[in-house]
Amino acid sequence: MTQMKSPNQPREIHVLGLSGGRDSASLAVWMRQNRPEIDIKYFFTDTGKELKEVYDYLGELEGFIGKPIERLNADRDFDFWLKQYGHFLPSPRTRWCTRKLKIEPFEHWLKPELEAGTIVHSYVAIRADEPDRSGMIATHPNMKVHFPLREAGLDKAAVIELLDSSGLGLPAYYRWRSRSGCTFCFYQQKIEWVRLMREHPDAFEEAKSYEKSALEHGSPFTWTQKESLDELARPERVAQIEKDYDLRVARRKAKQLANPLRARLSEIDIDEVYGVPEAASGCLTCHK
Ligand code: SF4
Repeated sequence: MTQMKSPNQPREIHVLGLSGGRDSASLAVWMRQNRPEIDIKYFFTDTGKELKEVYDYLGELEGFIGKPIERLNADRDFDFWLKQYGHFLPSPRTRWCTRKLKIEPFEHWLKPELEAGTIVHSYVAIRADEPDRSGMIATHPNMKVHFPLREAGLDKAAVIELLDSSGLGLPAYYRWRSRSGCTFCFYQQKIEWVRLMREHPDAFEEAKSYEKSALEHGSPFTWTQKESLDELARPERVAQIEKDYDLRVARRKAKQLANPLRARLSEIDIDEVYGVPEAASGCLTCHK
């Protein structure tokens, strides 16, 4: 029976952030299939530096959920903030990009609702096999955070199966890269930089030009540890990175028990080969 709402009860809204990644997409699918009565506002915070595949996948997702995904843009773009930060590239230790281009636009979007006393239910894609992840912390007493995938017991294999059975499948970039987010995200492994160079040479060149300007402005940091992208792109270095990756995959495969019932799980992804960078594992906004 539907309960009548008293006129004094606060307004409630439901929001679900999509990163263009696997887990948030599977959460949207799960909510559509299991909680269709909830009127969810879907959103995507756009840094303006995302992969083309992310935009394509969001389009497919809109078709599946039958609703538009609101694009939230920061008032100022990456180039503006880069200048403000003295051309120092963002890094795991000074991750100004996530705050300025992902978190603040989200907070700005919700501010009028929270100030008006609205209860905001936020749905976050933490899986059942991620017990150590606490997820987005509610920063306002009217914000209620929910973890439906975890509560429903869905692990990594289950979210992949869910996306497969919905017909959406995985975002196309999973073929060569482990997570969503900016083309030049510093959480990329070296093999992913090599692949970015092949898949999106223009984006690789853009990343190189940001790095050059950072070095010219006195920043000691490059996108990837201990070498510039110019150095990484040298043919002999590329061959070395690819050889190292192939070796790690072979070692990992040798250890892994084949599981014919969960064939997709037996595919090795980049995070399994190198481990998830600790700070990236905490970044729900960009990479979920
Ligand atoms: S995807 Fe990477 S570079 Fe982009 S905002 Fe997130 S942490 Fe920063």
